This record gives sequence, structure tokens and C-alpha cells, in this order.
Amino acid sequence: AATTATATTAGTADPAVAGPLPVLGLDVAVPLVTGGEIGYAALDYAASAPALRRVWDDVAAYAPYYGSVHRGAGHLSRLSTELFERARRTVAAFLDCRPGDQVVFTRSTTDSLNLLAAALPRDCRVFVFETEHHAALLPWRGAPVTVLDAPDSPERAVRTLERALAGRDPHGPALVCVTGASNVTGELWPVRELAAAAHAHGARIVLDAAQLAPHHPVGVRDLDVDWVAFSGHKLYAPFGAGVLAGRADWLGEAEPYLAGGGASRAVVRRADGALDVEWHDGAARHEAGSPNVIGAHAIASACAALTEAGFEALVARERYLLGRLRAGLARVPEVRVLSLFGDEAPRVGVVSFVVEGWNASHFAAALSAEYGIGVRDGLFCAHPLVRTLLGDGDGDGDGDGAQAPGGCGAAEPAGGEGPSHAV
Ligand code: PLP
Repeated sequence: AATTATATTAGTADPAVAGPLPVLGLDVAVPLVTGGEIGYAALDYAASAPALRRVWDDVAAYAPYYGSVHRGAGHLSRLSTELFERARRTVAAFLDCRPGDQVVFTRSTTDSLNLLAAALPRDCRVFVFETEHHAALLPWRGAPVTVLDAPDSPERAVRTLERALAGRDPHGPALVCVTGASNVTGELWPVRELAAAAHAHGARIVLDAAQLAPHHPVGVRDLDVDWVAFSGHKLYAPFGAGVLAGRADWLGEAEPYLAGGGASRAVVRRADGALDVEWHDGAARHEAGSPNVIGAHAIASACAALTEAGFEALVARERYLLGRLRAGLARVPEVRVLSLFGDEAPRVGVVSFVVEGWNASHFAAALSAEYGIGVRDGLFCAHPLVRTLLGDGDGDGDGDGAQAPGGCGAAEPAGGEGPSHAV
């Protein structure tokens, strides 16, 4: 059976060539250096990247002072409220939001897209490529969904979308959901062109920037997308916080994502005993409950660190690392790098590969145990895409069509025959 494994270049470090991220003024909080005392190279940043040291420092500096947000006149409460709202402004600047756009703090990209799914207008049709991460493929329960075939080029992606949109009821609301960079192939999607196609057909578009945001500037205005979703834990901030940013109208008209304190402006018990509730407008409408202030603060800190380091420098460094990784893999005859748009397509530093004759979970375990290299193995929460890339109905690359074990990115049990892989 073939095997897939995914590695990212963000964490690769070769002290003989150059330092890891510190050369860019960024410093991750876990040791990465290979060949030294540590001897471990984490290449699974696309799944979760370790938080930057600066982010931990910012969180630690704030920790002794935190208090309840939007809920008190006390000094710490006001300090925390200011910090939380400042984080919102920092994220809005990071994404170059339009005036009037909202930044809602969520738990993750998955949470952000589920929030948007809950805010869709009636009869809104969703268009999504089968190549999406499950976080973008699955939240649209209850809405009519058109799943588009995997395109073999960015141009075909645009044509496929245009054709599908042209065939719909032009008067009904529609939403396109697309990734900026694939978590499986690392390939960049033609977001600007897809946004133009969506708008030309009266549809809106949400960008899943989970993989794009850590690697490239994501400008809402430049890309002309209606919403952006991303996760802190892939952007060098810790787990537990994410962002949905963009147009306020659908979010403002929707029922609150969660009902509770913070989302409600006024609650009155009527004479007949029932409750009348007036909900907040703005981001608070969808942020019921005590918010994750530390998570929001950490995301803002990571946004500031990336902005200061400069994406130009980050992209150049990543391109160099990606070139080394791909050149190294190209020297191994048993390795096949997975790609939808072809070898020359622009991509971020995420590489998935098949090693003929190897079970992916065994291969990944061996890389870790014998070489101190951490990669992810599994189906990368993008089962239809991986199956398409492997040309195999079951995703194990052996062409037998039998369902492979292993869940969303989970490695199969040791000894399993199926594939697995990693990001
Ligand atoms: N979208 C893409 C492209 C991803 O790679 C991921 C995570 O791997 C997600 C969405 C979901 O992110 P999260 O698990 O933080 O919700």
C-alpha cells in the first residue's frame, strides 16, 4: 500500500545554513533545532504551530491582571475589556478589514465557519469544492449545498465556479466557501478570481484562511472576500481562539450563535411569564458567555509579530525551505509528492507525499522515533481531496477501494494496512 505523509517547512531548521525563525525576528517557544542538544524537528506546523515566544510573553505579562470583560467597572475588568477590544482592532488591521466589518472571536476556523453557516439567510445555496478541509466542507447542514469537482488548475477552478453559479437561481442568496491554501497540497487557490466570479453572479464568498494566514498577507479588501476565517493555533498563537471577520449584515440579522449573557442587551419577563430578549448588534451578538480574552490577546500578539517580521521575508524564507524539502524528496524514488495543480503551482510550505511500499503511520512513527522528525499522518480532514489525489476510492492509495481505517487525520492503529498522512 502507498502511504502519505505531510510535512511543513515552517519549522525546519538547519543550523549550518541559517537559524530558524529567529532570523526574522520571530522565535518559537519550543526548541526546533536539529542536530544540537534538542534533536527534534517539528514539521507538522500545518496542524498546529507552536506559539511564538513573544506571544507567550505577552500572555504572561497580562496574566496577573486579567478580569471579566464587558462586565464590570473595576480596574481589571476595564483593563481586560480594553485589551480584548484592542485585540479586535489589531486583527481588523491585520486583515485590512473594511469600515463596518465585524471581527468576531470564535474558538477556531471550524467554529467560525459553523457560525457563518448558522447566519446564512433563508434559502442561501452554498458552493464548495470537494477539495476543502472538512471544516469548510461540512458546516452547511440545513442549507442546499453544491459540491464542485476537484479542478486540475486554478483557471479551471474559476471556470467551474462560474458555470455552477451561472446555473443557479440568480435571485437567491449564495455563498462560496474556499480555502486560500490547501492543508494537503499547500497549493494557493485563486481567491481573488473566485471572489470576482462570486460577486459577478451575485454570490458572496468566505475565505478559509487557516493555512493562508500564517504564510501570506490576507487582505479582505485586496482579495475582495466577504468573510475570512482563521485559527490562532496555526498562526503561532495557542489553541482555543479563532476569528470570523467580514460583513456585518448577515451576522447582524442572524439569531445569536450562542444564546446567553454577553449576547443579550435586555431580558424582560412579561406578565404572561415568557421572556422578551433584545440581542446585541455587533460582534457581541455571537460572543455569548465570558470570552477567551487571553486567546484573543494571543492572536493579536501573533498578528503583530508576523506584521513586524514582514511577510516578504517570511515568504522568501519559506520558499527556500520548501525548495530544499522538495529537492530532498525528489531524490527518493519511492516518494511521490501530492499535487492538484501541478509541480509548478505556487504554494505555501505544506507538502504531502506518498511513500510507495510504506504504511503512512508506520512511516511517520519511524521518522519520529529514528530521525526525530515530526510529521502528521492520516487523511488530513480532507478525505475527498486525498482520495482524488491518490486516485483511489478509499484513500489508501492501493487502488482496492476498501475503506481505510483512521479518522480525520488520525493515524490508523499500528499494523493497519491503510494509508494515513499528515499536515
Ligand atoms: N481549514 C484548513 C485549510 C485547515 O487546515 C484546518 C485545520 O487543519 C481547518 C480549516 C480547521 O482548523 P481548526 O481545526 O483550527 O478549526
